[in-house]
Amino acid sequence: MLEKITEKCNGCGICVLGCRRNVIELRGEGKGKKAYIVNRADCVLCYNCERYCPLEGVVYVGPEVNTSAFKKHLPQFGRLTTAQATPLEVYAEMQYGGQIPEEKQDVIVVGAGCAGLVAAIAAAEAGATTTVLEKATDISDTNTSRSGGGFDIAMEREVNPDARRLSIEEKVRQAIEITGGHCSPELVSTCVQNIDSTIEWLKKMGMKLARRGIPGYADSLQPWLLARGAGSGANKQLLSIAIKKNCRILFNSRAEKLLTDPAGRITGIRARTADGIKDFAAKAVILATGGFQANQEMLHKYIGADFAYDIRLTGSPFSTGDGHLMAQKVGAKLINMDQIHPRNIDKSWVPGSTGMQGPLRELQVLAHYCIFVNKLGRRFMDEVDTSDIVANSILKQPGQAISIIFDERIRMIEPGEVANYKPEGIIMKAASIEELATIIDAPYDELGKTIAEFNSTVKDGKALSLDVPKRDLAMKIETPPFYAIYPVYCGLNCTMGGPEINPDAQVLDRDDIPIPGLYAAGEMAGGMFFGRYHTTEGGATFYKGNYQVTTCMLTFSAVYGRIAGTNAARFSRARASTV
Ligand SMILES: Cc1cc2nc3c(=O)[nH]c(=O)nc-3n(C[C@H](O)[C@H](O)[C@H](O)COP(=O)(O)OP(=O)(O)OC[C@H]3O[C@@H](n4cnc5c(N)ncnc54)[C@H](O)[C@@H]3O)c2cc1C
Repeated sequence: MLEKITEKCNGCGICVLGCRRNVIELRGEGKGKKAYIVNRADCVLCYNCERYCPLEGVVYVGPEVNTSAFKKHLPQFGRLTTAQATPLEVYAEMQYGGQIPEEKQDVIVVGAGCAGLVAAIAAAEAGATTTVLEKATDISDTNTSRSGGGFDIAMEREVNPDARRLSIEEKVRQAIEITGGHCSPELVSTCVQNIDSTIEWLKKMGMKLARRGIPGYADSLQPWLLARGAGSGANKQLLSIAIKKNCRILFNSRAEKLLTDPAGRITGIRARTADGIKDFAAKAVILATGGFQANQEMLHKYIGADFAYDIRLTGSPFSTGDGHLMAQKVGAKLINMDQIHPRNIDKSWVPGSTGMQGPLRELQVLAHYCIFVNKLGRRFMDEVDTSDIVANSILKQPGQAISIIFDERIRMIEPGEVANYKPEGIIMKAASIEELATIIDAPYDELGKTIAEFNSTVKDGKALSLDVPKRDLAMKIETPPFYAIYPVYCGLNCTMGGPEINPDAQVLDRDDIPIPGLYAAGEMAGGMFFGRYHTTEGGATFYKGNYQVTTCMLTFSAVYGRIAGTNAARFSRARASTV
């Protein structure tokens, strides 16, 4: 006997349209028309029947019955995979009697993080009517809000008055070297040329960004600016500026699909809003949806299965690569998709948190004097490298976990850092190397050998003749008690790949031709970063004034957000005059 999908069925047929395997059919006539399960065995658990059914309480077809457990994992809106687009659109059409309501704007920005809000402000300032679509209900958990709020800038002279200011060409050359040739020189060049003016522009509009000294290093200045209220302060400040500039911000509005005309020009975007599905006609669209660190399917595809399964997400749960997928569907070329920006975290990290208190942040000075060993008891990298390089190296170690080791003499260089490291118990103490080996779960003979070899090589603060040399801040590990932080893991802050943009922030297609009307900015834009931010020296050595930094993700987001907003507004004006 045929089974009704639900007793309440009104025969609308949405579930039949949504079903991906012809599991359901409409039977009967007129008011007696109902959806029946005709082929349960073929159900692939896509859950479309449940998701698109307009009635409350419909039970989906699949063999699982724990619907409420499943629902917890459903995204707030939308579908699990883009392959399910058709039923969603059909549903929208039925809901609105075949008419999807349409709004008209000059510029639509997708995403209300740093890049999106800066883009919206710039577009509004250039005279465009601007709407920002944000899928979250507020800005409390964007990646920008999660961030430390540090905007790297080129301040070498202020860090060290004797340092020579690098030319733009030298900075571009360094970026090419750092990225192994995987950045676009034009993109980098435009970025470094626009950093100062973008920061000044933001400050003029009331954004509070200040230089911050390092405690204990009164004469040193960090080569970055810190937003008041850190990352969440930065996002709030930008939101309030955008509102003052008359940008309309629609929360709870998830962009789903770029709309194009037959010539492939962008004509707007379809979004699922609190009022249902709407088409927003626009002359230009700016995608600023952040990365794909919270999309396991994409992590699998681009970064690798091992990593995708073991991921410790320190970035935003809203970073699901929506912009990447929408852009790809209209022909955008995605580049550097296997590149990520991880951070080191200790065992106090809990899922859902940012992991802001990682060891290299808490031991800003000391960490670079320590030695790092893996589970085999072996050193694997030069400890003076930047935290980006440390985190990337941790990923390649057995169990993706390492130990940071130091002795009493090193502790005394900056005892406050150890005393202030919270919570208690993260830094463990041992009376001997043998006890230390037990604490960090490494073989004693290997650890003993590693430390003995290291100690015998240290000379003038360097340990250069080792297979894994330490080029600075090397001190023997010989004075008990010994200390260890273990395990130190790697969390995922952001991804670095995405649709390639040109220096005008236009999204390029696979033949490197700009897609008319489509712009991208921020973490989702590809072509700038590969492996790490553009810092040229180890984290430790900048205390000596050698740190030449060009840009990080927030700076890149602000600079290209502004470029995207200005150019999208200009494009929309030009388009208006030709229509
Ligand atoms: C713990 C941590 C610390 C960090 N510290 C720093 C730092 O100090 N300096 C630095 O430079 N970088 C830092 N970063 C990285 C930095 O936070 C991000 O790379 C940067 O904020 C990216 O900004 P964005 O505007 O591109 O993306 P986001 O801030 O992530 O904003 C994207 C927005 O788009 C929305 N969105 C996504 N899809 C859709 C859709 N379909 N429809 C509508 N809206 C959508 C999201 O909900 C989100 O609000 C840090 C990151 C983390 C996690």
